Amino acid sequence: MSQPRKLSFDNGGDFIRQTRREVEDYLSAPHIRMRGRMELYAKGVVAFVLLLLSWATLVFAHPGLLLGLLAFGGLILGTSLTAFCVMHDANHGAYFRTRRSNHLMGWTADALLGLSAYTWRVKHNVAHHTYTNVDGYDADITQMPFARLMPVQAPRPWYRLQHYYIWVLYCVMGLRWQTIGDVAAFARGRIGTSALRFPRRWDLAGLIGGKVVFICWAIVVPLLVFPWWAVLCAYLAYSMVVSLIMAVTFQLAHCVEEADFASAEELAIEPRLWAVHEVETTVNFCPRNRVLSWLVGGLNYQIEHHLFPRVPHTHYPRIAEIVQRNAELHGVRYVAQHSLRAALRSHFRHLRTMGRMGVPVVPEMG
Ligand SMILES: [Zn+2]
Repeated sequence: MSQPRKLSFDNGGDFIRQTRREVEDYLSAPHIRMRGRMELYAKGVVAFVLLLLSWATLVFAHPGLLLGLLAFGGLILGTSLTAFCVMHDANHGAYFRTRRSNHLMGWTADALLGLSAYTWRVKHNVAHHTYTNVDGYDADITQMPFARLMPVQAPRPWYRLQHYYIWVLYCVMGLRWQTIGDVAAFARGRIGTSALRFPRRWDLAGLIGGKVVFICWAIVVPLLVFPWWAVLCAYLAYSMVVSLIMAVTFQLAHCVEEADFASAEELAIEPRLWAVHEVETTVNFCPRNRVLSWLVGGLNYQIEHHLFPRVPHTHYPRIAEIVQRNAELHGVRYVAQHSLRAALRSHFRHLRTMGRMGVPVVPEMG
């Protein structure tokens, strides 16, 4: 296999210099930093309590249909909050000050979501955050042969239906990562073009321990109470709904009509400023919807998240004002969808267009 092209961006530029200065100014006030952290921790407590109460009700309380459905909804909500508001921030290093504490909190990915935090940090922090929407480099946007998500990817006849069947793929992505996803990634030794080394010592212990904890609470303990078919159905339904929520939330920020895409060849011909690339390959949605912002851990402010991933997400609404103003000042395209409906429609239309589009035109090296 040929070696992947080494991609590099220019990390400077007036836009990010001025934006960073203003964001640092805003965060320099101790009471603002403290409030952001307290809000973050309060959300973590809500997520864990909801998750634990819902699970205990489902497994031990023998609830009727109504309470059972409520507890099942609580389990899904608690898991989604853990993913968006705890695990994601912690694995970016935004939850605590030290790397070790962040990794410990990030382990909620292994224990509560069934996904390896070690693999996530390479897949998400390195491949996705460094090479956002770059074909072959960002694993989130490279889903062939199942779907074509950007123009430079080759067309296939079945992609014409991808805007209908992709939702099923989103449902099974979680199952894949909970079962064979990590092993397959370790066997390849990379995610996208980013190296993935086999974990050692604490990372390996976290991976194995996390799988054991997840299998225990999600499968083994319920099997002591319920028949296997009921546990299997409940686990599949739970995992698929959580997976769908997570996949759609992340895709609405990058896989929409308004987002920019790039290939390694294009970036080699015309190198970009990294911050500008991040803003133009990312789209916010529902910035005024405070309930949604709370629920998705600020992931509707993905532009700000991509520029400042180590800042707690509770600061994003305020930071967004700074970023948007500077984007306008420096001629950087900044897009925010006004509603969830508009964002979903844009994702659907983008999938339909990519499915129908013909052979891409690859730029030639000069
Ligand atoms: Zn992220």
